[in-house]
Amino acid sequence: MQTQPKLIDSFGRTVNYLRLSVTDRCDFRCVYCMSEEMTFMPRAQILTLEEIYQVAKAFVELGVTKLRVTGGEPLIRRNILELMNKLGNLQGLDELVMTTNGSHLDKMAQDLKKADVKRLNISLDTLNPERFKRLTRTGDLQQVLRGVAAAKAQGFERIKLNAVILKNRNHDEVVDLVRYAVEHGFDISFIEEMPLGQVSDHSRAEAYYPSYQILEDLAQHFSLLSTTDKTGGPSNYFRVDGGATRVGFISPHSENFCSQCNRVRLTAEGRLLLCLGNEHSVDLKKVLRSNPGNLELLKQTIVEAMKIKPEKHEFNLQEKPVIFRHMSVTGG
Ligand code: SAM
Ligand code: SF4
Repeated sequence: MQTQPKLIDSFGRTVNYLRLSVTDRCDFRCVYCMSEEMTFMPRAQILTLEEIYQVAKAFVELGVTKLRVTGGEPLIRRNILELMNKLGNLQGLDELVMTTNGSHLDKMAQDLKKADVKRLNISLDTLNPERFKRLTRTGDLQQVLRGVAAAKAQGFERIKLNAVILKNRNHDEVVDLVRYAVEHGFDISFIEEMPLGQVSDHSRAEAYYPSYQILEDLAQHFSLLSTTDKTGGPSNYFRVDGGATRVGFISPHSENFCSQCNRVRLTAEGRLLLCLGNEHSVDLKKVLRSNPGNLELLKQTIVEAMKIKPEKHEFNLQEKPVIFRHMSVTGG
């Protein structure tokens, strides 16, 4: 069998994971992710589903084994299920996964399962309906919980909840969120807010609630066993004693996870972003649109792009963001 070519950056890290942002749009306006008034990109600037598929295919032929479809909210992109079905059939792909806010899962979970989506990450920051409305600005907790239930009923390999924890907004709910995860057999990751884009709602420094603090809060209620589990990602995992639930911490401020970074991101407008916390990027849309159908050129461009993957990010909590794109553009 032919050995697969590998994507290796100039620091010796193998890139085997691509995150695809299929839209910058969303039906929510989470306070840490977007401002209340957002200007989205004109549709003509967004990659077509076929272009996204071409990029994914090129990456998989270059040895990428895991694709995460995200956004914005991926489930509001028109004909997204068509793309998911095609991605699910890519030869050489081990894992097709998605991150979603859950608002459309009640009607789409079944089709995602059929498209061979293995695992889902569902964002859920609070179990309190008023808080949910305050944090998402437009979301309806009951609708999302219906989506979570529909996903659970489909029997995905794993469902993980993602909770961004903000001081004085939802930090007092970490125990309840873990209880909910345990009750349903889900994993849960707590995420420190990252300074991506300007948000109007709050000061990021004031709302900072560090992972070690969450861990201390949880330790008063659960016995958490440190694990060596790694998903190739930035989460540090603990297992809740007596259950299957893993509790992860994504801590860009209190820990630097860059040395094991195995991923790159495709933005909705076709920019290949080499690092979440830097602007190093290559315009794949230009390559796609000036050389339609030339998969080899696309692959060459991707291989070359690995040379500019930065060693690490430099997040800080200053009031002015260093990175001006919102997470919805980046594809979290
Ligand atoms: N709309 C989908 C969702 O919310 O799951 C997918 C896209 S969203 C950008 C992906 C993840 O990024 C979500 O779990 C969200 O909580 C997280 N996120 C958004 N803005 C963030 C920020 N400034 N810092 C940390 N995480 C953030
Ligand atoms: Fe939308 Fe996800 Fe950003 Fe919330 S975190 S505004 S759901 S893209």
